[in-house]
Amino acid sequence: GFVVQLAGNLDAVAQAKELRDAGACGIGLFRTEYLFLNRDILPDEEEQFEVYRSLLVATENRPVVVRTLDIGGDKLASALHHGAEQNPFLGLRGIRLCLRERRDILRTQLRALLRAGVYGSLRIMLPMVTLPSEVREVRDMIRTLQQELAREKLEFASVIPIGAMIETPAAALQAEKIAASVNFFSIGTNDLVQYTMAIDRGNERVTYLYQPAHPVILESIARCVRAARRHNIWVAVCGQMAGEPEYTPLLVGLGVHELSMDAEALGPVRRVIRAMHMHEAEEAAKAALAADNAEEAVEISLRLLRRVAPEIAALLSQ
Ligand code: PEP
Ligand code: MG
Repeated sequence: GFVVQLAGNLDAVAQAKELRDAGACGIGLFRTEYLFLNRDILPDEEEQFEVYRSLLVATENRPVVVRTLDIGGDKLASALHHGAEQNPFLGLRGIRLCLRERRDILRTQLRALLRAGVYGSLRIMLPMVTLPSEVREVRDMIRTLQQELAREKLEFASVIPIGAMIETPAAALQAEKIAASVNFFSIGTNDLVQYTMAIDRGNERVTYLYQPAHPVILESIARCVRAARRHNIWVAVCGQMAGEPEYTPLLVGLGVHELSMDAEALGPVRRVIRAMHMHEAEEAAKAALAADNAEEAVEISLRLLRRVAPEIAALLSQ
């Protein structure tokens, strides 16, 4: 009785067919950074419009979540001439850069998205949200751009769902306030783990602290789900964790509505979801939330996995 949507992550339109063939119900994360990297001139509105439109056409009316530019951190675009930062992951990244220094880029991207939105079921998602006011600022900008497009007599989507990525502890802790301004959450566990555990996600010396199933991370996810229920919005997880079957019982048990992942993960995750009962997943999630550490939480999840989908559990232990 509980539906979990399985969607795909992509960073190039060409991957859309592979995802569709693998059974994705739509696109849960289109990383638009790749349109901006390794080039001297930024993509203009027409170029972006064509990319977004072709993605919507390729996905045949299935929902497509496009993330606005998440540049900064480890992804730097030469065309943007970033100022040097000592800690780029804690710097002007994602929506921060777009709102504070490069509103021109955000405006162009949003205009292209609004225009492409008439060709399918488009949703817009904001990366690196830290404050509820960031979402409100983008909403205001979208309203202004819609008026501008109407004056120019261009076609555009007048109703478009807006989501916040939950990637910072500040966003998770005030999920309730952010929920009031959005239509959905998408939890970016890659960054949520990095920022919650205070580790650079690319630093191998601290990989031992990279623990997606740590009870503090699960608590953040549970908090988002509670806030989403109260505000009648939906919650996705689009970080790497969503495509790893050892965590599927926990994410489903916490009440996440959508898991978005790479194409090859769709089969195993679907198999796990179909094999278990919701009450079993809920019990596992509850026990994992109360666990002392990540190892215990993972073991709780694996115990259920070994019983309901032993062939997937066997693959994991190889
Ligand atoms: C994440 O942080 O989990 C995420 C999906 O975004 P990215 O990996 O692109 O930072
Ligand atoms: Mg991220």
